Amino acid sequence: MNVAVVSIGDELLGGRILDTNAAFLSSEVSSLGGRTAMRMTVGDCREAIVSALQQCVHRTDVVLVTGGLGPTPDDLTRYAAADLSDRGRLVDDVAAMEDVRAWCAAAGLPTTEAREAVAKRPPSASFMSNDRGTAPGIALTVDGSRIYMLPGPQTEMQSMWRRHVRPDLCVMTRLRTPPTEVIAAGLTEVEAADRLGDLLDRERRPRLGIRVGRGLVRVSVEDPAGDLDQDAMEAAACDVRARLAPWSFDSGLRSLPEVLGRCLVQRGWVLATAESCTGGGVGAAVTSQSGSSGWYAGGWVTYTNEMKRDQLGVPASLLSRSGPGAVSAEVVRAMAEGALGRSGADLAVAVSGIAGPDGGSEAKPVGTVWIGLACEGAVDARLIRPPGDRGLVRRATVDAALQWARWRAADIDAPLQWEVPS
Ligand code: ATP
Repeated sequence: MNVAVVSIGDELLGGRILDTNAAFLSSEVSSLGGRTAMRMTVGDCREAIVSALQQCVHRTDVVLVTGGLGPTPDDLTRYAAADLSDRGRLVDDVAAMEDVRAWCAAAGLPTTEAREAVAKRPPSASFMSNDRGTAPGIALTVDGSRIYMLPGPQTEMQSMWRRHVRPDLCVMTRLRTPPTEVIAAGLTEVEAADRLGDLLDRERRPRLGIRVGRGLVRVSVEDPAGDLDQDAMEAAACDVRARLAPWSFDSGLRSLPEVLGRCLVQRGWVLATAESCTGGGVGAAVTSQSGSSGWYAGGWVTYTNEMKRDQLGVPASLLSRSGPGAVSAEVVRAMAEGALGRSGADLAVAVSGIAGPDGGSEAKPVGTVWIGLACEGAVDARLIRPPGDRGLVRRATVDAALQWARWRAADIDAPLQWEVPS
């Protein structure tokens, strides 16, 4: 299966947006055993989009397009599709039009011509529903090549890909079972590869692929030949999960906050947070999960010494010049205890560190971060030293705090990523 990926938008050409959609789609295509034969980036110009699509349909079996499906005048993808397949003709899709009107009514907005435009499609095309936004995707066949047009926003595009396009392409590539993925957090790529060992042999089936990003290791389990059945694929995924335990996530879970939430719910526990160098990042991560109000009480962002003392009861002696200082085991323990006592939660996690680029010293270089955890009458502290710039240190700190809370709730004893052994 040869595939073309076409990204549409002036913002992409101008470098204001990074084309992550194309990278995502190409990587998904290869996991299905397909090949991205060409990629194009086209501005918001109807003729240019038509011309790009003509080139693609002549050379590939499948064309994946993202962007330009919205209601604004620069969203021209549907018009280009109509030029290509139906001499520019568009028809109202009755069901989609009802959806648009219902959406406008629910939002208390007038139904304008522009908003209704997203319910128009070329007569020979079909719509793909959008469960994360308003503009449906468009699927059509031109000169024997199948074209899928997906919205630009990442969450809308990825959901539409998973629900509509990928199942179609699995059928097209005759894959009996779609590839699956095992996710883990807190390991480097090399550590994950070491643990997987012989499972990574290129001759093995199903074949494994590793990629890392945003603190997660993703191991794809694929059978490009397409003749293994669901049980064989599941058994291989279980094997991967076991080798990456306890860092791996249970099937179906996709992020650390989600995993932590599951562990806390199972335990019937509620979490509280006390943060310094992450400025609320741990709280933001947990509240990214819908339903987190069931297991997250809330937290404190205590950046100054005074706030740590007044809001969390950290003893002034610990924070004074003669004490261990704000970035220390003693202070994060006191922060965690303060958060636990004041919130009535079952588990509290606290962080304080030097994210840089300023503020480091020989004794406490940039990247020095203490994490404290208070639970069931015990309080403990761990030191991590993540490498990288301010953003990376802060992100690694959030992940380590979530990981430790997850493990405490699941009674798991394992090192944190970047932990300095005591
Ligand atoms: P909307 O209904 O939001 O207008 P759309 O389908 O018309 O959606 P665009 O207007 O082209 O899509 O892009 C909307 C946003 O989606 C962009 O501002 C950008 O944030 C994101 N986006 C678009 N294309 C890409 C891409 N190739 N890679 C990453 N992000 C993208």
